[in-house]
Amino acid sequence: MSTIDALPPLREVIATHDLRAKKSLGQNFLLDLNLTAKIARQAGDLSRTDVLEIGPGPGGLTRGLLAEGARRVLAVEKDARCLPALAQIADAYPGRLEVLNGDALEIDPLAYLTPPIRIAANLPYNVGTELLVRWLTPKEWPPFWTSLTLMFQKEVAQRIVAQPGSKAYGRLAVLAQWRTEARIVMDLPPQAFTPAPKVYSAVVHLTALEHPKHPADAAVLSRVVAAAFNQRRKMLRAALKGIAPDIEDRLIAAGITPTQRAEEIPLEGFCALAREIARG
Ligand code: SAM
Repeated sequence: MSTIDALPPLREVIATHDLRAKKSLGQNFLLDLNLTAKIARQAGDLSRTDVLEIGPGPGGLTRGLLAEGARRVLAVEKDARCLPALAQIADAYPGRLEVLNGDALEIDPLAYLTPPIRIAANLPYNVGTELLVRWLTPKEWPPFWTSLTLMFQKEVAQRIVAQPGSKAYGRLAVLAQWRTEARIVMDLPPQAFTPAPKVYSAVVHLTALEHPKHPADAAVLSRVVAAAFNQRRKMLRAALKGIAPDIEDRLIAAGITPTQRAEEIPLEGFCALAREIARG
C-alpha cells in the first residue's frame, strides 16, 4: 500500500498502538491512504480552510486532509487509545493539527477554528445522523461551516439526497436539501474498512447555501416535517392534526391536498406549509 506522507503505514500504526477496533465506538477504520486522500479531495480546496474532523481514529482521513493542504485540522476523538498515533501526525505537520480527546456532541469548534471551516468525518451511524441534523438546524444561517463531507451507511446517504415519491424521502432529505446542495460523491464497499462492516457506505458532500431555497422558519419547518414523516403512511390531514386545529385549511392554503401523504410533498410544499403555520 503506498503512502502519502513519511509516517508509517496505518496497519503498522494500529499494531504499534494496539488499536483493536471497538464495536461500541463504531470503529471501522480506513487504512488505504490513497483512499483517504481521495475522500479529503471531495471536501474541496482546503488550502485556505480550517477543517473540523470528527472521529479521526488512527488518523487515515486526518493524514489525507493534511496532505491535501488543509490550513489547520481540529480532530475530535472520543477514544483516548488513538491519541499517541494522532500525536505522531501532529508532529509531522507542525502547527496544523490539534487533537481533542472528547465527545463531538459536546465541543464548540469555534473556540478552536477560524472560518472558513469545512467539516469532514467518517463517523458511526448514530452520532453521524445526530451531528448532521444539528449542523443543518443551527439558530443562524449561514452556519459556521461552508461544507460537510461525511461518510454514512449508503442507506443513510440515500436518505439525504432522496427525492419526493421515493421510500428514502423524509426528514433528512427535506432538512438537507432546504439549505444545502447535497450529493453522493463516492460509494465504498465493506472491504474498504477494517474490520469490514455488513453494509455499503457512501460519502455525501453538502455545501451550505447562502440562503435557504425557500423561505420558512427553521423550527416550524422541522416540527412540520417530523410530524408528517412520523406517520408517513397517513394522509397529511391526519398526520398533522396536532400541528394546528384547522390543518385542512392550512394545507389547502399551502397548495397541498389534505389527503396527500408526506412522501408526495416536495420541499417547496413543506416550506409553504411551514409559512402558513407560522402565520399563527
Ligand atoms: N476516521 C477514522 C477512519 O476513517 O479510519 C475512524 C472512523 S471510525 C468509523 C469512527 C471514529 O469515531 C472512531 O475512531 C470512534 O472512536 C470515533 N467516535 C465515535 N463516537 C464519537 C464521538 N461521539 N465523538 C468523537 N469521536 C467519536
